[in-house]
Amino acid sequence: MKIAILSRNENLYSTRRLKEAGEARGHDVDVIDTLHCYMDITKSRPAVRYKGEELPYYDAIIPRIGASVTFYGTSVVRQFEMMGTFSTNESVAISRSRDKLRSLQLMSRKDVGLPRTGFANKPDNIKDLIKNVGGAPVVVKLLEGTQGIGVVLAETNKAAESIIEAFMGLKANILVQEFIKEAGGADVRCFVVGNKVVAAMKRQGAEGEFRSNLHRGGSASLIKLTKEERATAVNAAKVMGLNVCGVDILQSSNGPVVMEVNSSPGLEGIETATKKDVAGLIFEFIENNTKVKNTNKTRGKG
Ligand code: ADP
Ligand code: MG
Repeated sequence: MKIAILSRNENLYSTRRLKEAGEARGHDVDVIDTLHCYMDITKSRPAVRYKGEELPYYDAIIPRIGASVTFYGTSVVRQFEMMGTFSTNESVAISRSRDKLRSLQLMSRKDVGLPRTGFANKPDNIKDLIKNVGGAPVVVKLLEGTQGIGVVLAETNKAAESIIEAFMGLKANILVQEFIKEAGGADVRCFVVGNKVVAAMKRQGAEGEFRSNLHRGGSASLIKLTKEERATAVNAAKVMGLNVCGVDILQSSNGPVVMEVNSSPGLEGIETATKKDVAGLIFEFIENNTKVKNTNKTRGKG
């Protein structure tokens, strides 16, 4: 098959591994820089242009859209969708996953376990907002933060009020969440492909750090998931409409709670910790899900 990886940098571990894994399975794999794609959206036959030429037809794309380019990146993915190309994650699902509040609202509707979370716009609600999620300690988060930046732990109600006021003063969108202390500065990354968790790792924050992000000095290790954790991750991916994603879970005393769902999960940490060919499994998913469609297409052409 002809498959394109949409990525800003072909030298990133995830991009390199995907290209290598696809080629090893006999596919023709191109890496395309998302921001260099452009399109004439009014044309009757949708197409994507790249470096002065129209791109050939791809059977499938693997979008790796960074958080800083969500708006343009999802437009490019949408254009490929309009051309009938299969995308491992649809543009709408990627946009959804980038907004933590929207994601949590969608998941709560479908009974996915979540930390108690509040959201408000007007400063006169602050005290009640904190009380409503159980009082301090609480975690205050920027709605569109990533890599642990903009995630703050407020140990007291007073500190929480000041932090919320400060963020609101900057007109930043935030949410306030109960602090899951028993998680012990660790979380569980479940890598979902299709409707299965194909790999999972536990990430432990550095000494004295409640954030487990590998970018903040956290370390990863292998973990065996409970049935409930596995089901929670699969359900979260399904609700978000993502075929390939990283579901981050906190182990709370009330069972697994989902913190966020990442639509471009990195491969380096998970492949190193689990020694699994996760990139290969993504291609296997593409092979299984484009087959039917391609048969239909040939039939349609008679
Ligand atoms: P980001 O998108 O920046 O990674 P997260 O919501 O994933 O933001 O938070 C970063 C880290 O902070 C998480 O991986 C987790 O270790 C910790 N954390 C976030 N929310 C909570 C919470 N409610 N209770 C305990 N720890 C949390
Ligand atoms: Mg995170």
